[in-house]
Amino acid sequence: MKTLKIAIQKSGRLNEKSVEILKNCGLSFENYKSSLITSVTNFPLEILFLRDDDIPEYVQDGIADLGIVGENVITEAGAEVTYLQKLGFGKCTLKIAIPNESQITEIAQLGGKAIATSYPVILEKYLKDNHVNADIRTISGSVEIGPGLGLSDAICDIVSTGGTLKSNGLKPFAEVMKSEAVLIGKEGSGLLPEVQELLQRIRSVLRAKETKYVVLNVARKDLEKIVNLLPGVKSPTVVPLFDEDWVAVHSVIAEHDFWEKINSLKAAGAEGIVVMPIEKIIS
Ligand code: ATP
Ligand code: ZN
Repeated sequence: MKTLKIAIQKSGRLNEKSVEILKNCGLSFENYKSSLITSVTNFPLEILFLRDDDIPEYVQDGIADLGIVGENVITEAGAEVTYLQKLGFGKCTLKIAIPNESQITEIAQLGGKAIATSYPVILEKYLKDNHVNADIRTISGSVEIGPGLGLSDAICDIVSTGGTLKSNGLKPFAEVMKSEAVLIGKEGSGLLPEVQELLQRIRSVLRAKETKYVVLNVARKDLEKIVNLLPGVKSPTVVPLFDEDWVAVHSVIAEHDFWEKINSLKAAGAEGIVVMPIEKIIS
């Protein structure tokens, strides 16, 4: 079997979740903070720990077969890579923000204005798509202090909670791009059997995260109402109890409408509801 290489962030916002998802795929490896590369002992895979900015090019050039990195970084790098799977973490939004007292109310008013950003490529495309000709000032960090220093009239930066904007007297003005961590591969790498195997494992971990395992008791007379509420993976498992008038129902429910579901199950006669996390769902 070919030994694959996967590049993940060495330290920063994506590191911990990247390591976690690989471990949840059943991969065993030592995660020394100091090492640049580590071998997985039970899968033909090596993990490279890199700065996130370097990951798209490493994958594009085939130095790594796979990578985990934010969409913002991939798009900014303009790397030609294949998106294999969105991973549901590292979510953020690239936004244009303006000072609280700014008179700007429409995108067209950014014409001729200076915008500070670490994402000149993405910003340029956005402005072009909106037919705005602005002066892009590329700076590598602390973009949010630009307007306060008189360096720019606006900024374009990553926002998650908006706290940094607020403390710098800025307000969000326009959404440029949404981003989350994705698994990328060199073009064509999705066809390798080892990549397929890893992808299947990652998808089963992601599916399991979105669902919970539920066991509940219900009187037989109310069973049909409960079954109608619980589609399960195929259909719920119904187990007889010692008291012949009662059964236990085992099923899987989605995280997103969890409380709504639990409340309607209770209303339909469910008792002793036990909810458990699921590690993997293999399909
Ligand atoms: P490196 O040292 O690897 O270059 P970095 O400082 O460029 O790290 P981090 O701040 O660790 O990067 O962010 C990594 C990625 O996490 C971002 O590119 C983005 O995709 C995502 N992210 C999620 N939320 C945020 C946020 N609030 N601010 C910045 N990035 C975020
Ligand atoms: Zn970086």
